[in-house]
Amino acid sequence: MTLLHIGIDDTDSPSGGCTTYLCARLVESLSALNVNFVDYPLLIRLNPNVPFRTRGNAALCLRVKIDDDFENRVKQIVLEEIERGADLSFKNTNSGVAFYEGEAIPDMLEKFSKKAMQNIVIINEALKIAETVGAEICTFKNARGVIGALAAVGTLLENDHTYELTTYRTPENYGKPRKLDIDSVRNMDSATSPNTFCNIDDGRILITPHGPDPILYGIRGDTAEVVYAAHNMVTSLEPIERWVIFRSNQGTDMHLRFLPSISQVRPYLSVILNGEVSNRSKTISGGHVIMQIKDHTGNIDCAAYEPTGAFREVIKNLIPGDLVRVYGGVRPASSLHPLTINLEKIEILKLAPLIVKFNPKCTKCGKRMTSAGKNKGFKCKKCGLKLTEIEKSTFEISRNIAEKLYLPPARAHRHLTRPKERINKLTKKSETMFAPWHNP
Ligand SMILES: [Zn+2]
Repeated sequence: MTLLHIGIDDTDSPSGGCTTYLCARLVESLSALNVNFVDYPLLIRLNPNVPFRTRGNAALCLRVKIDDDFENRVKQIVLEEIERGADLSFKNTNSGVAFYEGEAIPDMLEKFSKKAMQNIVIINEALKIAETVGAEICTFKNARGVIGALAAVGTLLENDHTYELTTYRTPENYGKPRKLDIDSVRNMDSATSPNTFCNIDDGRILITPHGPDPILYGIRGDTAEVVYAAHNMVTSLEPIERWVIFRSNQGTDMHLRFLPSISQVRPYLSVILNGEVSNRSKTISGGHVIMQIKDHTGNIDCAAYEPTGAFREVIKNLIPGDLVRVYGGVRPASSLHPLTINLEKIEILKLAPLIVKFNPKCTKCGKRMTSAGKNKGFKCKKCGLKLTEIEKSTFEISRNIAEKLYLPPARAHRHLTRPKERINKLTKKSETMFAPWHNP
């Protein structure tokens, strides 16, 4: 018997197609051959800041145990499915497949996966690693898909992961509005949250995408059991062609990496950074809010974009001296703006006192005094008293933000962002698989 790891990346295009759908079809065809799946299909989100990425920057991995003489047949099925399902006519679709055989994933491959989630990886680096570990690579067009395919194979998700049950539409409904009973989605959410997450935000249904892709809805949660139960609570008003439960790094923050100083920030990284607020935020056109933090190595802009809604109010309330931890993707500098962290969340570590100063009150009549000129003290307009040896009175205003973590609303989350339902939650890999995890 051989343990075969199959990594697939980048088969989508903006006009439809979807790598997860291709994977769901593969699950059906491989199941029909009585292949033994040793894990759920993995749905891996890679660094969301990479330019030229596919829409969700997703890659997939299937792990199957098969008879040795069956291996070529399985590989052939995978490649046929990609040729059939991938939208290779789109210029930016560059599918890639990686096959790796072996019980254990080499360290080098695991490290590569981590890098692909947090940083920029180039095609040659992927090809070199594939050669070193002995992974078999099949590339289509410019081979960029090799990066995700290999990264998916190298991802084990042993210390934290989530699940997504994804349902797919029948082809005649592609491109049409998705038909779900909205009340059933609300009931599902109240029955299963916080063990499911990002179902609804402020009355808006988040489980359905909006594009022409074949996905009807996807429910994310902490266990395979809960996403399956939640799926059974949702009433679909259109047929479901198939569904699959994926194990995923969505909602885990795996893209974020702590950097000890601002000087280490580079474009396209996803970072966690401590700093001191160095100025009041400003709101630019479009409603985006820009603030700046500093440390002993320099300073950097941080942006809360318009879609983050009320999250921007937190940023607007920060004052110089506040100590914060920022989380987000690094946008390269352009002619219009410097290197900027696109805020995914912010933790306020220590609030600075907010002091306001008032002119003193007249010691004779109690009226608020006015300035008598620079360094000339104060005078009273009512009784004419002049005082030079008097200071402004100070008053500390209570802050309307607290020392805690603030997140944008779920609708503005990236796939990888750890949602409020999962703060401090880690899900270890379980030894057994839940059934059923796919149909058909
Ligand atoms: Zn007076």
